[in-house]
Amino acid sequence: MGLVERDLAVIWHPYTQMQTALPHIPIVKGEGSLLFAEDGKTYIDAVSSWWVNIHGHSHPHIAKKIYEQALQLEHVIFAGFTHPIAVELAERLLAIIPQNQKKVFYSDNGSTAIEVAIKMCLQYWNNQGIQRTKIVAFNNAYHGDTFGAMAVSGRSAFTKAFDDLLFDVEFIDLPNADNIDQLKTQISHIKSELACFIFEPLIQGSGGMLMYEAKYLDELMAHCRAEQVLTIADEVMTGFGRTGKRFACDHLQQQPDIMCFSKGLTGGTMALGVTTCTQQIYNAFLSDDKLKTLFHGHSFTANPIACAAASASMDLFLQPETIANIERIEARHKTFGAKIASHPKLKEIRQTGTIIAMEWETGSNTSYFSGLRDKLYTYFLDAGIILRPLGNILYILPPYCITDSQLSYIYSKIEEALEIF
Ligand SMILES: *Cc1c(COP(=O)(O)O)cnc(C)c1O
Repeated sequence: MGLVERDLAVIWHPYTQMQTALPHIPIVKGEGSLLFAEDGKTYIDAVSSWWVNIHGHSHPHIAKKIYEQALQLEHVIFAGFTHPIAVELAERLLAIIPQNQKKVFYSDNGSTAIEVAIKMCLQYWNNQGIQRTKIVAFNNAYHGDTFGAMAVSGRSAFTKAFDDLLFDVEFIDLPNADNIDQLKTQISHIKSELACFIFEPLIQGSGGMLMYEAKYLDELMAHCRAEQVLTIADEVMTGFGRTGKRFACDHLQQQPDIMCFSKGLTGGTMALGVTTCTQQIYNAFLSDDKLKTLFHGHSFTANPIACAAASASMDLFLQPETIANIERIEARHKTFGAKIASHPKLKEIRQTGTIIAMEWETGSNTSYFSGLRDKLYTYFLDAGIILRPLGNILYILPPYCITDSQLSYIYSKIEEALEIF
């Protein structure tokens, strides 16, 4: 039996209708922006393997640090114990994110980073004997697939089977010049019940690469501050250079109370999540009363190998050539966007930093399950490019090491697709 058949016999894949799924492509090697299949075909990973792989695949620097850490200390329980690389990573991270962030809480992935953030906010109020249990989030938000993270995400086809069990959340529209005052009124109206406001800064990823302006988010955050509502910036996708600056919050004047990171954190090599918070939040858990403890942890909290991978990824992230690459991708996307801007098949082109999204005109058929999505997906795979459209929204979210010629090839195939579909 080949790998594909053995896989089908024993494995259940994520976000996949197994009855109708196309055969899963066996990948046996990765290098830079390329993935190599068992049959010798190569693919350009234009979505950074679900947005995690910021420095390309199998980077020797990260691989070396992982290997060295595995030989030194592979894991240790993180309650009652600590280790050098967890401390070093926390110090380095706090040095480059907004300066009000003072403490690092480790977990395993983006969803758990969100769960921790939500629990911090709810218990922050509970510890002070204040009844604030409601959360505000944006329509079309995506914060992960665990129950708490799902509850603060927009209700959709993905949450449908669970909707009755998800706690109530106040959903508001993305802010713009026309609705900003109304959104503030909406928040003020329920402020005494509100624990926190959670958002993906500047761009909603899974929701369809929906973008909005920093200045309106700033206004909402300032308003929340005035109303004593805590703010959670979910930088799981936007963190580590995606938006053209180190973090999406670097585009803002306001600083969030809590931040969440994962995806690019380890350069896409190991599963790791981070939730950071202000001193004020941390202090609300300090007490002689043991019940005020944050009772949350995972078996693999602060896994040393994952921390070593994150620290190695940060070495690469802080190199001047990475910043230059981010600027290069941003400029190339911009030129390409301008070139296809008036194409009749495109409803909209939008860009934030290294992400460019093209929304196909579909008439009335705009669902995630529209046939166009599958046709585009297969078309690009055949061309040796991994692009996974979100319904009728095609986007490029490449590793920063993607070359100019790889970008040109992707652009030319998209122009071809615009003629065909
Ligand atoms: C992917 C994502 C998550 C969830 O992260 P996982 O590691 O997949 O659990 C949360 N928030 C945002 C903005 C994301 O893009």
